[in-house]
Amino acid sequence: MSSKALVQVDLQGKLPRVASGKVRDLYEIDNKTLLFVASDRISAYDVIMENGIPEKGAILTAVSIYWFNYLTSKIPGLRTHFLRAKLPEALESLPADVKDTLRPRSMQVRKLEVFKVESIVRGYITGSGWAEYQKSGTVCGIKLPAGLVEGQKLEKPLWTPSTKADYGEKDENISPAQAAEILGADFAREIERLSLEIYTAAAQRAEEVGIILADTKFEFGKDVENGDKVVLIDEVLTPDSSRFWPKETWEANLGRAQPSFDKQYLRNWLTDNGLKGKEGVTVPEEVVLETAKKYKEAYERLTGQKWKGS
Ligand code: ATP
Ligand code: MG
Repeated sequence: MSSKALVQVDLQGKLPRVASGKVRDLYEIDNKTLLFVASDRISAYDVIMENGIPEKGAILTAVSIYWFNYLTSKIPGLRTHFLRAKLPEALESLPADVKDTLRPRSMQVRKLEVFKVESIVRGYITGSGWAEYQKSGTVCGIKLPAGLVEGQKLEKPLWTPSTKADYGEKDENISPAQAAEILGADFAREIERLSLEIYTAAAQRAEEVGIILADTKFEFGKDVENGDKVVLIDEVLTPDSSRFWPKETWEANLGRAQPSFDKQYLRNWLTDNGLKGKEGVTVPEEVVLETAKKYKEAYERLTGQKWKGS
C-alpha cells in the first residue's frame, strides 16, 4: 500500500509502451491485447496537474471493472474490451513491490480500433452543455425547451458527442450529424443507441445507491476481426468520466456547482483560483485529499464495498 501518488509507471522495459493518455499508459502484451494501466495523474480542462491523487488509478480501475461486469450482466449482447484483471506473464519477473503497485491499477483489454468521437450522454444539464444552452438554447446543436435551469433533469437523456482531440488539443462538442460524418451513419446510430442504453442502466443502478449520474463519457472501438462490431472500451462510469451527484444534496438552479463525487471539486478550485486551463499547476495537499475522499466515496457507494486501499 502506498499513500504516494504514482504519476509514472515503470515496467522496466518488460512490455512496449504503445501510448500514453492524460491518465493511462497502454502497453502491448501481444498484437490483440493491451495492458491498460491507470496512473494517479489527474487532468482537468484537458490539462494534467503536476501532482497526482493517491490511489486514484486503482479506484478508476476497480470502478471500471465493477461496471464492465454489471453492464454485461444487464445488457444482453453488450461487448466490452475488458478481459481480465491480472498482470500478464511477461511481468512475472518484476520485483514484488512493483507488481503490487501495478496490479490494482491494471487490466488486460482487447486492442481495438478507437472511434474518433467521445460519446457523451447527459441526463441533466450542466457544464459545457449548460454553457451552450445559455448562449443558443441548444446542446450540441440539439434544440431544447426554453426555461431550463442549471442542473435540471432533461426530459430524456441526450447523446451529445464531442471530438476526440489529439494530445494537447481540446475536445469540442459537435452535433450528432457531425458525429455521423466522422463515424459513418451506421456506426453513429449504433454508438448512440448503445450509449443511451448503457447510460440508462447505469443511471438506474446509481439511483439505487443515492447517486445521480448527471452525465458521462463513453468510448467505443471497432472489432475489425469480428464483423466490425462496436465494443465498449476505455474506462467506464468512473469519477473521471462522469458527474456523480449525491441525490440528497442535488437541487436544480443551486446557483453554484452541484456537490459531487468526482473531479468537479478540483475544477472548481482551479476556476476559483484563476488556474483553469493553465499548465504546470501543483494541487495543494488539502485539495488532493478532498479529491481522493470523493473518489473513494464514489467507489464505495457504487460497488457497495469498503475501499480497502490498493
Ligand atoms: P482523459 O481521460 O483525461 O481524456 P485521455 O482520454 O487522453 O485522457 P487516457 O484515459 O489517459 O486518455 O488513456 C486511454 C487511451 O486509450 C485513450 O486514448 C483511449 O481512446 C484509448 N483506448 C481505450 N481503450 C482502448 C482499446 N481497447 N484499444 C485501444 N485503445 C484504447
Ligand atoms: Mg480517457
